Amino acid sequence: MTILIASAILPLAVFVGFSVYDDYVRTLAAARHDVVQSARIAAARQSQIFATSRLLLDTLRRSPNVSIEGGASCDATLAQFKEANPQFLTVGLMDADGVITCHNILRQRQPFTDGELVTRIMAANAEEFIVGNFMIGRVSKQPTFALAMAYRDAAGNKLGAVFASIDLARLSATAEIVSDGGRLAVAMVQPASGRILSHFPRNDVIGGTVLGNHPLFAAMRSMPGGGVAETAGLMGDEIIYGFEPIDGAETSGLMIAVGESRQALLAPIRNRAMHSAMAAAAVLIAALVAFWCLGDRLHMAPILQLTRTAGRIKNGDFAARSRLPFWHSPELRDLGETLNAMAVRLEEGREAERAVAASEARYRLLAANSADMITCLDRRDMRTFVSPACKEVIGWSPAELLTQPPSDLIHPEDGETVLSMMQVLRSGTPVTEVRYRMRHKDGRYIWVEVNGRPTEIDDQLVFVLRDVTARKAMEDELARANRQLASLASTDGLTQLLNRRAFDAVLEQSFDMALANGRSLSLLLLDVDQFKAFNDHYGHMAGDEALRAVAAELRAVLRRPGIAVARYGGEEFAVVLPETPLSTALQEAEALRHAVVSRAIAHERSAHGVVTISIGAATLTIGDTQLSRSDLIQRADLALYAAKRAGRNRTEFAATDLSVAS
Ligand code: GH3
Ligand code: MG
Ligand code: MG
Repeated sequence: MTILIASAILPLAVFVGFSVYDDYVRTLAAARHDVVQSARIAAARQSQIFATSRLLLDTLRRSPNVSIEGGASCDATLAQFKEANPQFLTVGLMDADGVITCHNILRQRQPFTDGELVTRIMAANAEEFIVGNFMIGRVSKQPTFALAMAYRDAAGNKLGAVFASIDLARLSATAEIVSDGGRLAVAMVQPASGRILSHFPRNDVIGGTVLGNHPLFAAMRSMPGGGVAETAGLMGDEIIYGFEPIDGAETSGLMIAVGESRQALLAPIRNRAMHSAMAAAAVLIAALVAFWCLGDRLHMAPILQLTRTAGRIKNGDFAARSRLPFWHSPELRDLGETLNAMAVRLEEGREAERAVAASEARYRLLAANSADMITCLDRRDMRTFVSPACKEVIGWSPAELLTQPPSDLIHPEDGETVLSMMQVLRSGTPVTEVRYRMRHKDGRYIWVEVNGRPTEIDDQLVFVLRDVTARKAMEDELARANRQLASLASTDGLTQLLNRRAFDAVLEQSFDMALANGRSLSLLLLDVDQFKAFNDHYGHMAGDEALRAVAAELRAVLRRPGIAVARYGGEEFAVVLPETPLSTALQEAEALRHAVVSRAIAHERSAHGVVTISIGAATLTIGDTQLSRSDLIQRADLALYAAKRAGRNRTEFAATDLSVAS
C-alpha cells in the first residue's frame, strides 16, 4: 500500500519540487535582470544630474559677475545661482591655492575643505570637471561632496575653480524612484574608498559610512563597467545587487547599486512551495485516508472478523461463524468458510468427546463400584487397567497389579486352564465362567470365576473376576452331598449292595446295551433257603447278620468289573452278568453257592446244617431279540423255583422253552 501511495504521490512531489525550483531559478534570474536594469536607470538619472551640474558650473564660470577676486557682486551672483539650483547646498569660487574667494554664504576668505579636490583640479593635466570626496559640509552640516570645474581667465589660464557642494539627499532621492516603493534598496557608493554615500531606504548608517572591504565593493571594483553580485547586503540581509557606474562621475568612481533582498524575493516562492507542499501533504493524507478506509473495508475488516472468529474458536466457542459479504475477496471468504467448517468439526468432536467422556465416566463408575474386579490386558498380556475392587477380591492394590505380570498370581495347577482361556480370547471369542485359582496377597489361593471378552480397542481384553472361593466350597460340598444322596438312593442299607431300584436301572441299561451290541447277558436270582426258619430259630438280628455275611460272600466272589450285585428284596439277591454266556453264568452261580456254604453259617433247622442259597439263572443269547427284560427275570425266577423244588442249595437254569422250566 505504501508503494502504491508512493507511486501515486511521487510524480506529484517531483512536479511540485520541480515547479518550486523552476520558480526559484526564474525569480532569481528575473531579479538579477531587474536590479541591473534598475541600477542602469538610477545611474542614468544620476548621470543626468552630473551632466546638468557640469553645464550649470560651466555657465557659472563664464558669468561676468564671477571673478577670482570675489566681491559683493560675485557673492550675490552665486547666491542667486544657488537659489535657482536647489540641488546645490553651497556654491563658491576658490583660487589656485584653494582659498574661497567668492561664496553664496561665506563672506570671509577661508580654505576649501576638500584639500584633495583642490590639488586634483589645480593639477596641470587635470580634468575640466572633477567630483570630490564625501564630506560633511562646513556650512550646510549636511553630507555632501563637491563638484569642481576649472576657472580660467580669458586667455584660458587656470586661475582656480568654481565649486558646488551637491545635496546628497536630493541626489539619492532621484535614485529612490527606482526603488519601487522601497522594495529595492538603492545606494550610491564609492567602491574605491569603500564608502556609502547614500542609501534608500534611509537608516542610521547613511552619510559616508565606510564599509571598507565589503564584498559588494570588491565585486564593483572587479566589474567597473557594472554587473551583478549576490552578497551580504550593505545594511544586512542577503541581497542581489545590480550596479552601474554613474556617467560623468568617473573621476570619483561613483556607482549606483540597486539591491533586492533574497529573503523578500524568495519569500513568495517559499510561500508557494509551502502551499504546494501543504497541498501535496493534503493529497497524501487524503490518499492515505482513502487507502486506509479502502484497505480497512477490503482487508482489515474481514481479517479482523476472521481473527475474531478464530479467537472465539480458539477459546472453545465453536458456535462462532465468519460471515463475509460477497464483495470480499474469494480467498478471504474461502478462509472464512474453512474456519466455519473447522468450527463445525470441532463442535462434532467435542460432542463425541463429551459422549465418550460421559460413557467413560459411567463405566468408570460401574468399574469403581462393582464388587467384581475388572481388568484390561493389552496385546502383550500386561494389565492396563484394574478396578479398585481388586483390593477386596485378591488383596492387591491396582498399582501393585499394574506392575506385575498377571501369570504371577495364577495357581501352578491352573496354568493350563488360563492358557487355553487366553487362546480362546485371542482367537476373538469371549469366555464365560472360567474358574481358576489366584494367589491372594495374604498368601492363600482363592478361586475366581472369570468372564473375558476381546475388544476392538488395541486388541485389549477385558476381564471381570469375582471371588467364588466360598461358592466353590459350597458347590463342592453340595456335589459331595449329592453323590452321597445318590449312593444312598441306590444302595441297600443292610448289605451295602445295590438296592432293587438300582438293580432295575442297571438291568435295563445292560439289557439295552446287550441288545444293541448283540452280546449275551446273564441274570442270576438267589434266595436264602428256609430263612424264615432261621429267623425263627436265631432271631431277626441274627437273620440280618446272616444276610450281611451272604452279601459279603457275593461281593467277594464277583469282582469282575461290570457285574452288578443287588439285594432284590427280603432274603433274595440278583446278579447281572453282562457279556456272559449261560455256561459262565452257571460257573459263577456255583462259585457263589459254594462260597456261601463255605461260610458255614450255622442253620440247625436246615437239612444242610448251614445257611445255603438256591440260584436260578437265565441268559439272553444272541438272536433272542423277541425276549423282554421281564421275560428274562421271569425265566430266572422260574429257574430259582425249580431249584427250590429240586431240593434247595443248587443252581438251575431256565430252558429256552419257558414251558419246559415250569
Ligand atoms: P424257602 O426255602 O422256600 O425259601 O423257605 P423260606 O422260609 O426261606 O421262605 P419264606 O419266603 O416263606 O420266608 C422268607 C423269610 O425270610 C420270611 C422272613 O422272616 C425272612 N426275612 C425276609 N426278609 C428278612 C430280613 O430282612 N431279615 C430277617 N432277619 N429275615 C427276613
Ligand atoms: Mg424267599
Ligand atoms: Mg428263602
